[in-house]
Amino acid sequence: MPVAILIPLYLALAALPLTLAWVQDVPRRPFFDELASSLGLVSLAMILAEFFLLGRFRSITQRAGSDVIMRAHQQLARVALVFAVMHPFLYVSPMTQPPVWDVTSTTAVNYSWEGFWPGIAAWLLLAGLVAMAIARDSSGVPYAVWRMLHGLVAALVAGFGVLHVLRAGRYSADPLLGWVWILLFACAMGALLYVYLVAPLLRWRRPWRVTSVRPAAERTWTVTLRPEFDGGLDYKAGQFAWLNIGHGVFSLNENPFSISSAPSAGPEVEFTIKELGDFTRSIGQIKAGTRAWLEAPHGHLTLAGHADAPGIALIAGGVGIAPLLGILRERAATQDPRPTVLLYGNRREAQIVRPGELRDLAAQHGTEVVHVLSEPEETWTGATGLIDAALLRQQFGTPERRDWVYVLCGPPAMLRAVRAELLALGIPSARILSELFVYD
Ligand SMILES: Cc1cc2nc3c(=O)[nH]c(=O)nc-3n(C[C@H](O)[C@H](O)[C@H](O)COP(=O)(O)OP(=O)(O)OC[C@H]3O[C@@H](n4cnc5c(N)ncnc54)[C@H](O)[C@@H]3O)c2cc1C
Repeated sequence: MPVAILIPLYLALAALPLTLAWVQDVPRRPFFDELASSLGLVSLAMILAEFFLLGRFRSITQRAGSDVIMRAHQQLARVALVFAVMHPFLYVSPMTQPPVWDVTSTTAVNYSWEGFWPGIAAWLLLAGLVAMAIARDSSGVPYAVWRMLHGLVAALVAGFGVLHVLRAGRYSADPLLGWVWILLFACAMGALLYVYLVAPLLRWRRPWRVTSVRPAAERTWTVTLRPEFDGGLDYKAGQFAWLNIGHGVFSLNENPFSISSAPSAGPEVEFTIKELGDFTRSIGQIKAGTRAWLEAPHGHLTLAGHADAPGIALIAGGVGIAPLLGILRERAATQDPRPTVLLYGNRREAQIVRPGELRDLAAQHGTEVVHVLSEPEETWTGATGLIDAALLRQQFGTPERRDWVYVLCGPPAMLRAVRAELLALGIPSARILSELFVYD
């Protein structure tokens, strides 16, 4: 689904209940009452739409990128929270039982405990949900546990919110809008069920086995898997997978990792994994033969759609080399004749992944590999410092490199700086592809 369709689709979904409320033929109330109701309606619709921005639906992530979708998920949740927080405090009409003749609750905000308590529950849980999301990394809660709680509390917020709007909502008393809420809620729960139940069930018949775990560089490992079914994975170089090693197919213990192998190299897939936290620090202990599951492919960091680019620039920081290794290998396997430059930044030489293979790629396929070390040993004779403006200008400042495709992967600060510099060099933003490894 193209991004140009995704945004209007999201806006239409978020505005649908409000539009259905506005077209109703009921007397209008004071401005602040209408504003309070409108914010409540939009906020609940946005909360339900969040269930489609999980970064797990390929038709969405392959266009916009999982990192962009997850960022949108986080930011839009904050907007929904602000709207929800304001919603109960803006009403100016009295909160009481309206007189019998006022069947459309025009003179009072129709109060009933039956309608109010689900609203209070949803309101409190939503604040807790967003706080829990913001404190995710600092809380010390294991990621899998956090994800389960996040899904569970989000489902409760949606359920209580819909119950509140159906019981207390002035506009949602209208049967059409009432059914729209029920339908949206059912779709939201369907999305959750698809990710955590249906998709794992579909994976059940597509198990993988670890074939090897080898050191790739300092605190970095190469993990290879082979499929135990016919066909393997249909992916593009540069994409990533949710990898579950050694757990049941329904387990939430799965992490995203870029695929470092070339699709045309055969059914085995390879990952380059750097030690960081609980799971990645235990990678070296994984035994060959361990069962694994892959939810893939995801991501938009591929050269698809850039066949017309006359050259390829790959810019990696640290383990950001992982997807770029896949692109380089695919380029070599398919004998892509386009000039290619790899700028690869690390702190120390020992952190360079597969230096020998990179040398071979340079020799055999003409890839220009430029290593840059920020904390080099005295024996290092290559470039030093960071991948900065001067280096980028030196490599890509000439007019003939302006139409190349630029693929970036690395720490967020590096990506921001490199992107800004490339834009300053006149590279069109449509030619700059990047993927973040953190969803913060
Ligand atoms: C699209 C994408 C591609 C990636 N590719 C690679 C790669 O090729 N090689 C590599 O070494 N790293 C890659 N990462 C980063 C990798 O996913 C994390 O380093 C890893 O999940 C950390 O897990 P942990 O249990 O060791 O660390 P933890 O201490 O549990 O987590 C450290 C941080 O990693 C992130 N993280 C942990 N678990 C998850 C999860 N299930 N989903 C999303 N984020 C999580 C969180 O930000 C967390 O704060 C990629 C990340 C993304 C989003």
